Amino acid sequence: MIVGTIVAFIFGCIVGSFLNVVILRTEKKEQFLSGRSHCMHCQHTLSFWDLIPVVSYIALGGKCRYCKAKLSAQYPIVEALTGVLFAVGFWFAAPVFLPHSVLLFALVMLYYMVAVSMMIVMSFYDFRTLTIPNAFITFSVFSALVFDFLLIFFPKPAAAASYWFSFPSFNFFSSIEGAVIAALFMLFLYLVTMGNSMGFGDIKLVVFLGLLLGWPNILLMIFASFVLGAVTGIILLIFRLKHLQSKLPFAPFLAAGSLLTIFLANLVFYGYLHGFF
Ligand SMILES: [Zn+2]
Repeated sequence: MIVGTIVAFIFGCIVGSFLNVVILRTEKKEQFLSGRSHCMHCQHTLSFWDLIPVVSYIALGGKCRYCKAKLSAQYPIVEALTGVLFAVGFWFAAPVFLPHSVLLFALVMLYYMVAVSMMIVMSFYDFRTLTIPNAFITFSVFSALVFDFLLIFFPKPAAAASYWFSFPSFNFFSSIEGAVIAALFMLFLYLVTMGNSMGFGDIKLVVFLGLLLGWPNILLMIFASFVLGAVTGIILLIFRLKHLQSKLPFAPFLAAGSLLTIFLANLVFYGYLHGFF
């Protein structure tokens, strides 16, 4: 377990450094599958030693080795965040699925890693530009549909009623239902507020998140995202970091709400059904 979790963390950091490349090169409209990694400032090609996730950033003091330009803190943050989320996913998913079937565990982990990666890419992209490219949405929705479809062939293991990991929904219909209801709800808000509360990209994003979480877990995700968004907005207003009119990227809150739901939904609904709330 410990070894597997550490391996998942290291693998996540490596995937995270690729996600950084996807985010930055998409923004600059460069090909991200070809071409060596280079400094965004001086264009110097980076060596193997400059590309070790998290470690290189710390060793270089957050500066480019060649031109000494300050490197964005986004690099180590995305790398470490991906690493931590892969590790946490492994830690909670392994005891639930591994005793049941290695194949099922591999499928769930792959689905989880693709989902987390796309959430991170879209959150950071939205944070930088206040937009979410359609290509990201299309890829995410398509991959979620494929995974949800493949999971039809696996019965939900009884142990999947774990309190700490309620992913995936294990019900193709529930996934579609979650996507449709969440999108309709967001569309309704979008129309009522005349597009002031969120962008149209956020509506497309919840189609993907609805597929991941399914019905009724999507309700918890929407609730958690709005609470997180409201609290953050109020904090930023108090410290005068943002004006009332300025827009906040909403994708990071939707992603954070989704992650909370993945790890806490069973616990919340279990507590609700048993009259704890
Ligand atoms: Zn440089």
